Amino acid sequence: MTYAIGLRCRKCGREYPLQAIHICDFCLSPLEVSYDYKAISKVISRDTIARGPTTIWRYRHLLPVNSGEATDIGTGFTPLVKADNLGEEIGLEKLYIKNDCLNPTYSFKDRAVSVAVNKAKELNFDTVACASTGNLAASVAAYAAKAKMKAYVFVPAGVEAGKLTGIAVYKPIIVTVDGSYDDVNRLCAELSHRYSWGFINVNLRPYYAEGSKTISYEICEQLGWQAPDCILAPAGSGLLFTRLWKGLQELSTLDLIGPVNTHMFVLQAQGSSPIVHAFEAGNLHVHPVKANTIVSSIAIGNPADGYYALMTARGSGGGAVSVTDDEAIEGVLLLAQTEGIFAEAAGGVVIAGLKKLVSAGVIEKHHLTVAVITGAGPRTQETITHPIKPFTVWPSVESFEEVLGFRTIDIGGI
Ligand SMILES: *Cc1c(COP(=O)(O)O)cnc(C)c1O
Ligand SMILES: [Zn+2]
Repeated sequence: MTYAIGLRCRKCGREYPLQAIHICDFCLSPLEVSYDYKAISKVISRDTIARGPTTIWRYRHLLPVNSGEATDIGTGFTPLVKADNLGEEIGLEKLYIKNDCLNPTYSFKDRAVSVAVNKAKELNFDTVACASTGNLAASVAAYAAKAKMKAYVFVPAGVEAGKLTGIAVYKPIIVTVDGSYDDVNRLCAELSHRYSWGFINVNLRPYYAEGSKTISYEICEQLGWQAPDCILAPAGSGLLFTRLWKGLQELSTLDLIGPVNTHMFVLQAQGSSPIVHAFEAGNLHVHPVKANTIVSSIAIGNPADGYYALMTARGSGGGAVSVTDDEAIEGVLLLAQTEGIFAEAAGGVVIAGLKKLVSAGVIEKHHLTVAVITGAGPRTQETITHPIKPFTVWPSVESFEEVLGFRTIDIGGI
C-alpha cells in the first residue's frame, strides 16, 4: 500500500485526492504528492531498503502507488561511478557520475514513467499518452507494452531518426506534430480535456514527477547514506531538478541521512535557457523563450516547473549555467574519452557546465560532487559531427604496419 495521502498545491497548499489531476483549481499552480512521513518512518530503514529489489521499487514506501507487484522493466539502481579520470582532467578529487544511460530505454525517464504507468493502471486507464521530445515517448511506449496498455505518443516532427526508431519498436501510436516541443505540449494539454487517457506528463504529472526523486535516494544510498556537497543536473521543464531536491529532503526527514547541505546546480543549453537567464538576472520569474538548440531532450522554451527549479538552485546555494551546443558536444566527447560513458547531448551540457563551475571556483577541488547523466548517446549519433578517420588497410600484417607507420625496418623474419 502507498503512504501517499493526497495531492497538495505547491502554492496555496489546497489538498486534493490522489486522482488524475495536476493543477490547482484555485491558483493554477502544480500539484504535488504528499505523504505520511510518520507512518513511513515506522516501516522503512536502511536495512529494509537494502533488502528490496535492485530497481526504483526498493523505495516503494516513498512512491504513490499501491500495488506491491508493480509493472516493471528493470528501471533504476543505476551505477554511481567514481570518475577519477574526468575528475583529474577538470580538477576535482571526489567526482561521481550517476549513469542513468543504463535504464531500460536509455534515459532517466523510465523512473518517472514506471511510477506514472503503474498509477495509470491503478486509476483504471486503458490508454496512456504523452508529449515528448523523444525519450519520454520511448519510455511510455515500452512500459505500455509491458502493462498491455494502448499508447499515443506525441513528438515534434523534427525528432532524431534514431529516437523515432527507439520509440517505434514498441509499437505505440506515434503522432509527429509540425511544431516545437512547446507546441506538442500545448496540444496534449488540450487533448487531455477531450480524451479520458492517462497523459503521463499532463494529468498524471504529479505521479510522473515522483519517479525522478529516486535518483537522489540512490545517490545517497550508494554513497553510504550521505548527501553529496554538489549535484548537477540538466533541465528542460525543470521537473527532474526539483525532484532531486525533494528526494534529499525526504531522506533527511526520515533520518536516513543527516541535514542536507547539498548545493544544486542546474544546467541548460544556451539556445534554450530560460531558467539560467532568470537565475543570472536575479529574476523571480522565468520568461519563456523560443528554443533553438541541438540538445533536443532539454529544448523546452516554456518550462512548466521553471520557477521551482529556479528556487531550488537559489535556495540550496547552488547555481545555474548554460553552455553552447559546441561545448555540449565537447562535453559528450570528454565524458566518453575519460570515463567510457557515451551520453546524449544533455549529458554533455552537464559535463561542460561542471567544467565551467570548477574553473570559476564555484565548485571546489574537495567537494563531493555528483553529475547526473540523464540519457545515452547512441540514439542521437547525428549530433556528433566530428570527422571519423579510421585507418584503412589490406588484410595483411604488412599493410597494417605500413599504414600505421610501424614498419620502419624490414628485418626479414627470424
Ligand atoms: C527529459 C530529459 C531531461 C529534462 O527533464 P525535465 O524534468 O524536463 O527538466 C534531461 N535529460 C534527458 C536525457 C531527458 O530526456
Ligand atoms: Zn493552489
